[in-house]
Amino acid sequence: MKSRADVVIVGGGVNGCGLAYNLAKRDMDVVVFERDYLTSGATGACGAGIRQQWSTRDNTLLAIDSVKIFEKLSKELGEDIDLRHGGYLIAIHDDKEMQQAEKNVEMQRSLGLKVDILNPQEINDVVPILDVKGMNAIGATFCPTDGHANPFKTTFAYANAAKRCGATIYTHTEVVGIKTQKKQVTEVVTNKGAVKTNIVINAAGVWSKDIAKMVGIKVPNVPIRKEIMVTERLEPMFEAMVISFKDGIYFSQQKEGQIIGGIPIPEQKVGYKTMPTVSFMQHMARVLTRYAPVLKHVNMLRHWTGFYDVTPDARPILGETKDVKGFIHCHGFSGHGFMLSPMVCKLLSDFIVDDKKSEVLESLSLDRFKDKRIEHEMSVVG
Ligand SMILES: Cc1cc2nc3c(=O)[nH]c(=O)nc-3n(C[C@H](O)[C@H](O)[C@H](O)COP(=O)(O)OP(=O)(O)OC[C@H]3O[C@@H](n4cnc5c(N)ncnc54)[C@H](O)[C@@H]3O)c2cc1C
Repeated sequence: MKSRADVVIVGGGVNGCGLAYNLAKRDMDVVVFERDYLTSGATGACGAGIRQQWSTRDNTLLAIDSVKIFEKLSKELGEDIDLRHGGYLIAIHDDKEMQQAEKNVEMQRSLGLKVDILNPQEINDVVPILDVKGMNAIGATFCPTDGHANPFKTTFAYANAAKRCGATIYTHTEVVGIKTQKKQVTEVVTNKGAVKTNIVINAAGVWSKDIAKMVGIKVPNVPIRKEIMVTERLEPMFEAMVISFKDGIYFSQQKEGQIIGGIPIPEQKVGYKTMPTVSFMQHMARVLTRYAPVLKHVNMLRHWTGFYDVTPDARPILGETKDVKGFIHCHGFSGHGFMLSPMVCKLLSDFIVDDKKSEVLESLSLDRFKDKRIEHEMSVVG
């Protein structure tokens, strides 16, 4: 094992590998530790939807800039990440949701996003299989440049490019401790050896809480189990991701034809429980076929669990705090860390290499909870 590195990254998900690439391409000597295999965390369980329609300015900015990076990523990394712009159609069910949607769209347009409010008749122009009455929609918002990419291909493309730029990735290597001196990171200890460094990035997803504890920092994140399913392959029927904040459902059709989607279940609990439930399958089937009755006789092939790393305001925790110098936060994505990863990795790398602070990093710092600078992200699935 290497004895020293400029930066050590904990976690081999899309953010850990994206950070490794962004830093290594800027000549930093980078080490990544992943205790299992790359994508073994939330990244390998996710729906991998890419949405720019948010209620908070920070998330919208991060997502818009991420899409710009996603669009060039296959070429830049030299591997196809299967990016598709099918759009996101967000159902609006009542007047309260309509008011919030109008507010969101105004803010999103002010940042240059192309997004429209559709009336019920226009919903079927985008997704013909939807039963607009059955889903109780009075309208929808639609952004055609939202979409989807393959989370495995994206993460491995980042990892391979990082290695080509000189990064070292150790899989099956668990970080068990972080040493500090005078509130400065000095060493990362694993079950296979230790690496001296002055900078460590906590990109350990839903386990970031444990990594922060190693340097005495408490983070407010909670792990929430989510379930997601995939159906058999079908003829191509629609391209958009359909989503409802009220019903909690989201689903889209992949380019190979299968439908991937999820929904929260009533007995959803905080904690690291991986067991999939029958009630998820029942609830998902009921709501999905209410939205799209044509899917009634389709076979669900597989369903699995993963965790959202949820913060009190459903926004990520990024950057360094004064408590420990050289300890960088990159977690708390609250179910949206794939789509934000390209810009998050760039901003954190610019901060580490150039000491460049940005408004977004400042606003999403852990200190916001202490300073009561909390703005809740409203556009989340329960
Ligand atoms: C069901 C589901 C659907 C989702 N859908 C979407 C979506 O449509 N769009 C979207 O943007 N996001 C979605 N997400 C969220 C998204 O998956 C995550 O936010 C994102 O993948 C987080 O990536 P990450 O690299 O930060 O963390 P992770 O992918 O969780 O990676 C963290 C890694 O750290 C490793 N690790 C932990 N502790 C240690 C240690 N001590 N030592 C070494 N390694 C360690 C873990 O093994 C893990 O591989 C979804 C999540 C789930 C569960």
